[in-house]
Amino acid sequence: MSTNTSLRSLLSSTTLPQNEAKILLAFILEKHYQLPRSALLSRDEMELSPAALVQWKGIEASRLAGEPIAYLVGKRGFHDIELYVAPGVLIPRPETEILVEIALREIQALNRPANILDLGTGSGAIALAIAHSAPQTIVTATDQSLEALAIAKMNAEQLGFSDRVQFAQGSWYEALKEAIPFDVILSNPPYIAAGDSHLSEGDLRFEPASALTDGASGLSCLEAIILQVHPYLKPGGLVAVEHGFDQSDAVVNLMKAAQLQEIQVHKDLAGHCRAVSGRKSKS
Ligand code: GLN
Repeated sequence: MSTNTSLRSLLSSTTLPQNEAKILLAFILEKHYQLPRSALLSRDEMELSPAALVQWKGIEASRLAGEPIAYLVGKRGFHDIELYVAPGVLIPRPETEILVEIALREIQALNRPANILDLGTGSGAIALAIAHSAPQTIVTATDQSLEALAIAKMNAEQLGFSDRVQFAQGSWYEALKEAIPFDVILSNPPYIAAGDSHLSEGDLRFEPASALTDGASGLSCLEAIILQVHPYLKPGGLVAVEHGFDQSDAVVNLMKAAQLQEIQVHKDLAGHCRAVSGRKSKS
């Protein structure tokens, strides 16, 4: 017989969508009992301890109030790694994996140890996914936010990449002490325009505004990154940036203005133009 604190009855009585309730309850099970998610089925008569029950109620209420699942469970999968995330950083999005794929293709084509720059790293997602998938690669990751850098460093340590990924604090290229040119420069900067209604919807309400919006047209950070890229890029080097679904033409024009070549637009899984890459001439 299932009591009202059994896993089965907690799942059937919650007003959360079932898929979300299962993720959150699985998190409680792992944390309090080191049990896998399958215990939701195999041990569905199990009753939560008072402490676990209090945490479940808290987490359920937070989710009902809109808090992102990634912040509640403190992690999010990205490319082939799992990152610790907290309210000080943007929650990594699947579309940002496009930048990782662009970089990995370039690294493979270079066929030598490459050095990569990730501007505005947040949780470290782009930098660490590349370090994971391209073991010879040296990565520099910057962020203006000390809170974000602390989280990114924690992730680098956790994943064992502290020796190949270095961090620097500052706004875009100002974070770099000297202009050592890179093979590939990547960025997922804040590109949402101030006042865009998406900022007051869903997960975005809980994420750091500084990671989402430039407080202006949405293009100012993309502009700073693209127009100043030359001293930081090797001849023949590649720059790729993520942008909003309606910013592709503007970003292509910025790349043209910066005299970059082989300009390419990359689509996300939803079919939106989501990233643009360009190459510095070889001579
Ligand atoms: N991709 C995020 C979103 O639209 C925005 C992140 C960003 O501004 N770089 O939810």
